[in-house]
Amino acid sequence: KVVEGEKLRKKLHNTILELKGNIRVFCRVRPLLSEDGVGAEANVVSFPSSMEAQGRGIDLAQNGQKHSFTFDKVFTPEASQEDVFVEISQLVQSALDGYKVCIFAYGQTGSGKTHTMMGNPESAENKGLIPRTLEQVFETRQSLQAQGWKYEMQVSMLEIYNETIRDLLSGFDASRPENGGKQYTIKHDANGHTHVSDLTVVDVQSSSKVSSLLRRAAQSRSVGKTQMNENSSRSHFVFTLRISGVNESTEQQVQGVLNLIDLAGSERLSKSGSTGDRLKETQAINKSLSSLSDVIFALAKKEEHVPFRNSKLTYLLQIAGTFISDRCMFNQPCLGGDSKTLMFVNVAPDPSSTGESLCSLRFAARVNACEIGIPRRQTGMRSSDSRLSMG
Ligand code: ADP
Ligand code: MG
Repeated sequence: KVVEGEKLRKKLHNTILELKGNIRVFCRVRPLLSEDGVGAEANVVSFPSSMEAQGRGIDLAQNGQKHSFTFDKVFTPEASQEDVFVEISQLVQSALDGYKVCIFAYGQTGSGKTHTMMGNPESAENKGLIPRTLEQVFETRQSLQAQGWKYEMQVSMLEIYNETIRDLLSGFDASRPENGGKQYTIKHDANGHTHVSDLTVVDVQSSSKVSSLLRRAAQSRSVGKTQMNENSSRSHFVFTLRISGVNESTEQQVQGVLNLIDLAGSERLSKSGSTGDRLKETQAINKSLSSLSDVIFALAKKEEHVPFRNSKLTYLLQIAGTFISDRCMFNQPCLGGDSKTLMFVNVAPDPSSTGESLCSLRFAARVNACEIGIPRRQTGMRSSDSRLSMG
């Protein structure tokens, strides 16, 4: 039954994928902040009003030159957290139907990645994608119960810093020993399963447990632009929700995964300092961000070899679809395959960020072009400019 249901789902899925690409890019521009120390007239970002670019275009001014980009969607600084969530709620929903979903936030430190992904989980208005996603998933689970669906959900949270995995939930579950300071490795076990060794996985049945989980997650990603060197901006944060559902009357089964990822700041060396530990950190970040783009571009080109194992981040995403439950074993990559990927490119509108913003937009434009298979569709792009040649 599992196999048959799975086959049918795949068939359906492939039909959908043939119709539209499975990598999408949304751009979000944050408002000018008082910390930026400049007036509104210094804003370097504007939005074209032409019909075809409406809601999809962004212009960046640099030294009197205008660079134009279009994405699947562009959120202006006025867009609320709710406005952003509305656009991804469908994607979140698809995890309950058994899809593997990855949502990334990419951009330099201070551009609004953490605000977008986490925001303030205690604030109805300012909570970001992760808290909203969990709320929606819980609500939908409730309503699907009437149709005979029973879901199990598990959350894990980790950080990748200097190519080292850190479990952010260690010690969360009272029944497990404290794992403080321990490093985690990706392991293959005797059954051929690949997973992160000893990673804490928390069963979430109630939303009260979720709120304490979120509090912990938010603590690990303190929001703030002023500290360019703060630790959270030097690591990738990976929030994973695994959903396993069974319909008790039809015996249908689904296994979905949602990965919500707040990437390390994409800024280049000069901005974050370039000696000692900082240099090592920056090199690790560059390596993993360029591995991520290598994987995306290899998938887009349908290359035979996709270099998932070149960084912890991509390797993790390759194996994050592995499910081992008492019901079945399921193994699907969360990037590529029949998964769905959405990248937010976060942009700051202040003039001191222009160089980094341009880099981020160019990279995002290349990713955005992937899905429809046209390599260089955007204006303002030089062939020599890419994250791949960096660091
Ligand atoms: P990053 O995680 O990319 O380093 P943050 O999310 O910490 O950036 O954002 C930097 C600052 O800008 C924070 O003070 C945050 O509250 C603020 N900010 C970011 N995006 C928005 C937004 N859309 N609206 C209001 N404030 C924002
Ligand atoms: Mg951040």
